[in-house]
Amino acid sequence: MKVVIVGGGFCGSILAKKLDREDQFKTLLIDHDGRYEYYPSLPKLLSEPSLKEKITLDHSSFLSEIEIIKEGVKKITSESVKTENRSIDFDRLVLCFGADYPIRLGNKNNVHKVTSIRSVYQARKALVDSDHILIIGGGLIGVETAAEIAEELNKNITLVHPHERLLERNPIEASEYAERFLKDRGVNILFDDKVVENHGAFMTEKGKEVDSDMAIWAAGLSFRGSLLSGFGDDVFSDRWGLKVDDTLKLRGHDDIYVGGDITSLDEEKTGHNADVHGKRIYKNLKRESRGKEPKKYTKSNAPMIISLGRKDGIMLFEGKILTGGFPAVVKKLLEIGAVQRLRF
Ligand SMILES: Cc1cc2nc3c(=O)[nH]c(=O)nc-3n(C[C@H](O)[C@H](O)[C@H](O)COP(=O)(O)OP(=O)(O)OC[C@H]3O[C@@H](n4cnc5c(N)ncnc54)[C@H](O)[C@@H]3O)c2cc1C
Repeated sequence: MKVVIVGGGFCGSILAKKLDREDQFKTLLIDHDGRYEYYPSLPKLLSEPSLKEKITLDHSSFLSEIEIIKEGVKKITSESVKTENRSIDFDRLVLCFGADYPIRLGNKNNVHKVTSIRSVYQARKALVDSDHILIIGGGLIGVETAAEIAEELNKNITLVHPHERLLERNPIEASEYAERFLKDRGVNILFDDKVVENHGAFMTEKGKEVDSDMAIWAAGLSFRGSLLSGFGDDVFSDRWGLKVDDTLKLRGHDDIYVGGDITSLDEEKTGHNADVHGKRIYKNLKRESRGKEPKKYTKSNAPMIISLGRKDGIMLFEGKILTGGFPAVVKKLLEIGAVQRLRF
């Protein structure tokens, strides 16, 4: 069975690793960067560039049998996947190309992101010469980035957040803890406002001018739906991403699976969930290769950890919250585990 995987992040890498050992599949992994990057540690990379060696793995370093194609996918139809250089057909296609993090400002000068190794290195270069940093967005990425810069790089920071509390999708105790942590380190937080313009200075919707040397955009994900061509409207969710059935197949398409951030499943978009999808898709491919029906995906909960610098953090699990040093230690262990499980 010829399996083509688009995207070698959390979902695609664990799936590829498992298929690498299976002779009954001819597997191809397509990823434009050719490596796995552990995104939860990207904010830390801002102050510790050498961390890159510990949080990235070239696909070729842990996959020996499958074909790795280091190219960008330009178009996906129900019959083939097209890159810059080739068109590839498949018996089974797995779509797990992750979310996009576009900067929604007309002028993107001096606006950086913390969403890939490459983007963090660019942000780092700008950070060295900047005293005043604007962080746009106070969700998980914005809070972790502000905390890291405040703790490790000692800059003046303004954070603008469109809601009345940070981390608004999480319990109020988590929002209050994060706010206290940042304010204690001198971070100026503007709530209920948005950065809407960049003309050298940054302007908010309520007309405030934020004078800063650079900005970091941490205000939301987007779905790269335009990669898909010729699919009916019924595969696209109104809310987000691609609709899947209970076995993680694209709705109405028996030969296409979808995993990770781009599913429309009503669950947090996390590395843990993407990993569980990858493992379920692997088991279902195995079942199908033996002539069996694929099994249902079942959600599995895991703690969510928000880092506040290196020594502090917030752990959330099933409505309970734990703060302080322990979450920071667990997050470090997760970082080590996420890379080691692919290596060995
Ligand atoms: C800064 C940051 C911090 C985070 N912190 C946490 C955290 O603490 N805990 C947590 O659980 N989650 C966290 N997340 C979210 C987590 O990283 C994602 O949920 C997870 O990466 C999703 O996995 P995925 O396999 O769907 O996609 P990804 O891991 O995003 O992988 C997608 C892959 O597809 C490739 N790709 C994309 N487009 C194309 C194309 N056109 N052609 C070829 N290849 C392509 C990309 O190069 C990438 O390798 C964080 C994310 C960020 C950005």
